[in-house]
Amino acid sequence: ATIQDWTRSEKFHNSFLLPKDDVLDSVTKHSKDSGLPDIAVSEAQGKFLNLLARSIGAKRILEIGTLGGFSTIHFARAVPADGNVTTLEFDPLHAKVASENFKRAGVENKITLHVGRAADSLVTLHPEKKFDLVFIDADKSSNVTYFTEAKRLIRSGGVIIVDNAVYEGKVADPEVKDSWAIGTRDLLSFLKDDKEVEATTIGTAGVRGFDGFIYAIRK
Ligand code: SAM
Repeated sequence: ATIQDWTRSEKFHNSFLLPKDDVLDSVTKHSKDSGLPDIAVSEAQGKFLNLLARSIGAKRILEIGTLGGFSTIHFARAVPADGNVTTLEFDPLHAKVASENFKRAGVENKITLHVGRAADSLVTLHPEKKFDLVFIDADKSSNVTYFTEAKRLIRSGGVIIVDNAVYEGKVADPEVKDSWAIGTRDLLSFLKDDKEVEATTIGTAGVRGFDGFIYAIRK
C-alpha cells in the first residue's frame, strides 16, 4: 500500500466518523495562510486525542509543541469548563497564529500558552494539581528531556503520548543518523529501563504517511 491508499482510507473513515467542522477548517486555513508548516496531527488523530482526553476524564493537559493550535483546540474541547490546557511553543509566529486560532475556536479561556524554549518553560511549571495527560510533539531531539519533565508533572495513572515515534520506520533504522531519529531512539532506550512507566508504540498509516506514537502510563 502507498500514501495514496492510506490517505484514501483515512478520508473514507473520516467521512463516516468526523462531522464537518467549520471552526477547525478555518483554524487550518488560518495556519496555512500564515505560512505555518503543514505538520499538525491529522483530523482523525486530533479526534483520537480528544476522545482519549475524555476517556480518562482529563481536566489538566500539557502539550509540548503548539504550532497553530490544532491539537490544542481538540484538547481544549475535551476538558470541562474549569479545565485547562497548558501548551508550550518556541516560535513567536506559531504562538501568535495559535492565539488567534484559540479565539476563533472560542476556547482561549481554557488555554495557557507559554512562548519560549519548551525545556525552559517546563522547569518553571509547578502545578498545584498534576496533569492528567501530556502530549509531546516538538523537537524530537529533546524527547528524553520532555519525557523526564512529563513524569515529574503528571499524576499517577496519567497518560503520556509522544508523537512521530515511528517516522516511516526510520526511527528503527540505525543507518538514519538525524537528530530527530536519535532523539526518539534515545527515548526508547530510556523507557526500556524506566520502572516508573509502562509504554507501547502504536504504528499508524494515513494522510500523514507511515508513523506512530508512544503511549505511556505513569505508574
Ligand atoms: N501539536 C501540533 C498539532 O498537532 O497541531 C503540532 C506541533 S509541530 C509538529 C511542532 C512544534 O514544536 C512547532 O510549532 C515548533 O515550532 C515547536 N518547537 C520546536 N522546537 C521547540 C522547542 N525547543 N520548544 C518549544 N517548541 C518547539
